[in-house]
Parts: sequence; C-alpha cells; structure tokens
Amino acid sequence: MLYEKAPAKINLTLDVLHKRSDGFHEVEMVMTTVDLADRIWLRSTNDGKITIKTSDYFIPTDQRNLAYQAAKLLMQKYSVTEGVEITIEKSIPVAAGLAGGSSDAAATLRGLNRLWKLGLSNEELAEIGAKIGSDIPFCVYGGTALATGRGEKIQKLVSPPNCWVILVKPAISVSTASIYGNLEIGRYTHPNTQAMIEALENKDYVQMCQTLENVLEPVTMALYPEVVVLKEQMKKFGADSVLMSGSGPTVFGLVENEARVPRIYNGLKGFCREVYAIRMMGE
Ligand code: ATP
Repeated sequence: MLYEKAPAKINLTLDVLHKRSDGFHEVEMVMTTVDLADRIWLRSTNDGKITIKTSDYFIPTDQRNLAYQAAKLLMQKYSVTEGVEITIEKSIPVAAGLAGGSSDAAATLRGLNRLWKLGLSNEELAEIGAKIGSDIPFCVYGGTALATGRGEKIQKLVSPPNCWVILVKPAISVSTASIYGNLEIGRYTHPNTQAMIEALENKDYVQMCQTLENVLEPVTMALYPEVVVLKEQMKKFGADSVLMSGSGPTVFGLVENEARVPRIYNGLKGFCREVYAIRMMGE
C-alpha cells in the first residue's frame, strides 16, 4: 500500500488571453498549493483492473474519475498487467475551483510511477497528465508556478510569503466550461501577472495582496451573487485581500496576522458550512 497527498491549489492570478483555434483558451495563471489535501492510497491487485473507492458518495468511481483516467493512460502506455485499487479520501470540496479532481489524478500518476517502478520524471508525468486535464501538470509538480498555454506549460516560481488562507465554498457547484463560455475576453481588466511574480520574488505580502486578480471572477459573480456576498463578508471580517479561485465558486482570503484568523473563520461559519483556515504551502 502506497500513500500520496493530493493538495488543493488556489489561483493568485488568472488571466485569459484569447480563445485558440483548437477551442482551448490561452491562459496565464499564478497558482500555488495550499494545505488542504485529499489522501490517496494505491494498492496493487492481480486482477488487471482499476478499482476506485472514495469517501465521497457523489464522486464517480468509473472512467469519469480523473484518477481512473490517469491510471488507465499509464497502464496502457507502459503495458502494465497488474491491477490497482485507488482509495480517495476527499477533503477538497468538489467542483470548487480548487482542482481537487486534477490533484487526485496527479497524485495517482506520482504514486503509480513508484508502485509500478516506471522511473518517469515529473516532466513525463506532467505530459501524460496534460492529456487528461490542463490543471494536472501543475498538480504533478505542486508548489508555486506560472501556468501558460492552456495551463499545461509550467514554470516554477518562488513560494508566496507565509500567511493564512481562509477558504469558503458556498453550497453551489460551478461548471468551469459554462464560466469560460460566458467570458467576453477584453471586457475586464487583466491581472498584472508580472507584478505578482515580482511580489513572490521579493516575498512582498502587501504587493501580493494588491495584485490578486482573476478575470473569471466578474463572470462567476454575475451568475452567482452568493460569491459577491461571501467576498464582502470575508473583507468585513478582516481578511487582507480576497479573491475567487479558478472558475469558482470558492473564495479565499489572505490573512497575515494569525490573531485575526478565528474571527474571520467563525464569522464565515455563520454563513457557510464549508470554511477552512489553512496555511499557504507553496513549496
Ligand atoms: P478545476 O479547478 O480544475 O476546474 P474543480 O475543483 O472546479 O476543478 P473538481 O473538484 O475537480 O472541480 O470536480 C469537477 C467534476 O469532476 C466533479 O463534478 C466530479 O464529478 C468530477 N470528478 C472526476 N474525478 C474526480 C475526483 N477524483 N475528485 C472530484 N471530482 C472528480
């Protein structure tokens, strides 16, 4: 039995540059992992099959599961004959903009590389992961990175300054495809990606807070007013800076002063069941 941690990610910036002729959007995103993770166990079986077990009743356990797709691809590519049982203990909220499914798939790739002794590099695993989903390459490496292309081109960045991250996930699910479908490129101001990279390089917490921006945020907020309310509440309770992650609906707030965390956490608990106070990991 082998264990892999599958951490969630947040977007410090998310920009969409244009829609490509292949239908994908050209993006530019600064992403970082946070200390909220699913736990994945991999066990070798001799039936040649991929079996998924999950703690969350609503997650598919068949070929629709991204971890299943990752295992299948690896199995076919390297003609693996043994089977595997993948147990996924979910902690990352589903369809939240936190790349939970992508991180499970990435952890499955890393874990199977060890279990099946394939000797693949992270670059090779990321390339395989990109065939399943654009966020998987980032999740293979983890840490902090600039993701470009359709999200699959990864350039490592230094980790963010130390702080707390309060995550709040309203009780709605948002489809990434529908948010991109509603995006009118050029209508909203673009994030300053370079300024965010500089903020990280200088470990400048204030500049990081000032530069948080996500071009999808106004699109999701127009469709789901709950996100607007949560942003306002988070600010009112004292977060230094607040942004929606990915295509939403999860909103996160950055907090430097630990003493302020309980007030924000408890205040938000009055509105939402799913609230997390976690540490930025970023390494
Ligand atoms: P992203 O930020 O990459 O858009 P997300 O965090 O918004 O992802 P996920 O939690 O990955 O969204 O889930 C999106 C959908 O993918 C879910 O509705 C679920 O049915 C499906 N799915 C497939 N595999 C998984 C998995 N291992 N964990 C969670 N959801 C999964």
